[in-house]
Amino acid sequence: MIPSSFDYVVPQSLQEAFSILRESDGEGKVLAGGHSLIPLMKLRFARPSILVDISKIEGLSKVEENDDFIEIGAMCSHALVAYSNLVKENSPLVAHVAAQIGDAAIRHRGTIGGSICHGDPASDIAGALFATSAVLVIAGPNGKREMKVEDFFVGFLETALDPEEILIGIKLPKKLGRYSFEKLQRRSIDWAIVAVALNKVEDTLGVGLVNLGPTPAGFSLSLSRSEDTAALLEKFRDIAAGLTPPSDIFGSSQYRKVMAEVLFSRALSNLV
Ligand SMILES: Cc1cc2nc3c(=O)[nH]c(=O)nc-3n(C[C@H](O)[C@H](O)[C@H](O)COP(=O)(O)OP(=O)(O)OC[C@H]3O[C@@H](n4cnc5c(N)ncnc54)[C@H](O)[C@@H]3O)c2cc1C
Repeated sequence: MIPSSFDYVVPQSLQEAFSILRESDGEGKVLAGGHSLIPLMKLRFARPSILVDISKIEGLSKVEENDDFIEIGAMCSHALVAYSNLVKENSPLVAHVAAQIGDAAIRHRGTIGGSICHGDPASDIAGALFATSAVLVIAGPNGKREMKVEDFFVGFLETALDPEEILIGIKLPKKLGRYSFEKLQRRSIDWAIVAVALNKVEDTLGVGLVNLGPTPAGFSLSLSRSEDTAALLEKFRDIAAGLTPPSDIFGSSQYRKVMAEVLFSRALSNLV
């Protein structure tokens, strides 16, 4: 349970962080709240030679409002996201989901950026970002780029980030509708065995899936007026048939698929 040895630096700017990451030649790792990275290091699944603590870089820990979207800084803690009036007013699903993550200690230390960059399929907030069609803002030595959340996750604990890049923000469209989040867990502080997030805006239903495959996932459904719950459930069932949820001591892959249907149907009836 002791990590291999590493250096630790606290850059004051993004440019400084990029050059440290470049010099580390792929061996450096960004450190945010450390709640996912440090356990991996203790198990020696991750052995970075240097940790680049981005907590002192200005501008990464605030929520800002623009005409069409709000932007959540990558270093915002889950608690900040859950309590932010800007998030609650403009993207209530994301605030609601942030409040369901782990316990108070996890929510105050863990960050939204860390939760996404870790690439864990069990990330609740990633499910919410799929349902809300979030766009990720990524910065690197050559400038900024934006990426739809659905293009970000490329494999189990793997993302589309280059080793020298840093996620700086998450853009959420200011589109209000109805939402719900259903999470199956053993205790209220636990990770989801399975969870489903829904965000209904006009005639589109955004769906986020948690722990139903090797990566966080989601899709959207166009809703026609005539469509009833049974028809939507049928569509969900068709999509769920192609999913490959993990099997572990908390449930088999098949159990997760069945429970996903149950949660989807429950979430549809609980839209607020
Ligand atoms: C006991 C426990 C219970 C939990 N329960 C839940 C739960 O119920 N639901 C849930 O969704 N999650 C849960 N979590 C996970 C928790 O939400 C994450 O561990 C946390 O959000 C990760 O964020 P962090 O800031 O600690 O990231 P770190 O651990 O610092 O980083 C994680 C990874 O992301 C990279 N990284 C971090 N920030 C950036 C960035 N801005 N740019 C580029 N790369 C970056 C790091 O290099 C590392 O690879 C739980 C964790 C624990 C320990």
